[in-house]
Amino acid sequence: MRAMHETSELLDFRRAFIWLLCGMLLPSVALVAFGVVAVANERAAVERRLAEDYDARLRVLQRAVLERLDQAAFAVSEGRRDPLVAFVAPLQGSPPALAEAAQRAAVLPIGGHLLVGTETQGERTAYALVRVAAPEGGERTLVAPLDLAALAAEVPKLAQQRFPRERADFRLIPPREPVAALAALRRFVAEAGNNGTIVARASLPSPLEGFALAAELPGDDPAAAVAFRNRTLYILLLVLLYVGIGVGFGLTLREISRAYKLSRLKTDFVANISHELRTPLTSVRLFAETLREGRAESPQEVRECVEMLSSEAERLSKLVEKLLDWSRLESGRRMLELRKTEVPQLLDEIAVAYRAQQLPASYQSEVEPGLPPLDVDRDAMAQVVLNLLHNAVKYTGPDKRIRLRARKAGKGVAIEVEDNGPGVRPQDRKRIFERFYRGDDLLSRSTEGTGLGLAISKKIVEAHGGRIELETKVGEGSTFRILLPVA
Ligand code: ADP
Repeated sequence: MRAMHETSELLDFRRAFIWLLCGMLLPSVALVAFGVVAVANERAAVERRLAEDYDARLRVLQRAVLERLDQAAFAVSEGRRDPLVAFVAPLQGSPPALAEAAQRAAVLPIGGHLLVGTETQGERTAYALVRVAAPEGGERTLVAPLDLAALAAEVPKLAQQRFPRERADFRLIPPREPVAALAALRRFVAEAGNNGTIVARASLPSPLEGFALAAELPGDDPAAAVAFRNRTLYILLLVLLYVGIGVGFGLTLREISRAYKLSRLKTDFVANISHELRTPLTSVRLFAETLREGRAESPQEVRECVEMLSSEAERLSKLVEKLLDWSRLESGRRMLELRKTEVPQLLDEIAVAYRAQQLPASYQSEVEPGLPPLDVDRDAMAQVVLNLLHNAVKYTGPDKRIRLRARKAGKGVAIEVEDNGPGVRPQDRKRIFERFYRGDDLLSRSTEGTGLGLAISKKIVEAHGGRIELETKVGEGSTFRILLPVA
């Protein structure tokens, strides 16, 4: 029956554990897979992001460049000089490349202009054709070749005006084919020194066909630095995630194993309690039967029977009282009534209660003189000390030497119960203060108990702001020490 119970409990815990495993591992594996893909794609993603960012800026710059050309043409129409204009001459006998543009310019109003790009023998040039009033009366068209090297020099300035805090360099880049007239522009571009990497490029429309604007970030591989930083961050986050999962897993496992142990302790406790209840109940039934059958003949025998009955009933009620006590403490229903108490007075009360229990051993009491009074609930504290004394009697051999000592300890008072019993084994030392826990040695197994006494004592002492300690040597004895703060 019991084995069955344990197996099903174990199964429950295993099931909970498997659920936990699935619930945590599956999403984390998915997350890691996602992370790995993200890490692998990081470089491409950074490059795409950079290109998108700079494309938008290049479009702005493109408009600025075209506006700047319009300004240059406007300066020509007003007869002003402009650094972008190489020279100004009247358009005469229009060269074939400009013939069609010249016709369109001829119908422009005065002050109007046209921007034209030409390509002759692979050489690209840009012109502004400006319609102006002729000095001799009438109208004429002026032709102004544009200085593209000067324009290239202005592009960074235009960019600077629009994007003052920009890290990238913006440049005008010439068409790929080698063009003699663009040598100056090429030189300029070369001088600007391009030890960066172009992250975005936008072709320019007429009259600058073939030319492009480029955004260049410093360094050999700007995406690499960003990608490296992001990758490191991903990996760090993944490591953090796993550390978190690991810690959570560990903590959950600990809780599960605690819950499992506690549930086993409870099972043991129920078995124990049933046994504890059965022994006095059997005696009660036996003595009651003896009396009912009239097997006790002499008045002496009858009296003995009645005495046994009452002592067994007493044992039962004590057991029940202990259980109720624990449940009151657990649920927080037990209130402490703290009163200023002199230590000798407390020990006297304990001595009276101890004698009333008629235990098979006495103890020696030592009180250091001049102890300060304590602020305690006398009944509760007496219960704690009596419980320790009771354990000392229970867990010592036939030659019992038990001492109760009260002395000063630091700022408080220590009440110690010392015995010459078997001591508590190292593996049990921490656990004996846990509820329902009973030592696993032969002596504890063969002694009556619920595993609640020390747990109740610990709770009561802690409710007084004190603590309970154990000093023990296997084979030599134990000292349980209650440390209480003074009033
Ligand atoms: P119980 O005595 O009902 O088992 P306790 O909480 O009082 O419960 O004690 C818990 C366990 O601590 C005991 O089962 C026993 O193994 C151990 N113990 C308590 N007091 C002593 C002592 N004086 N000497 C040796 N072992 C002790």
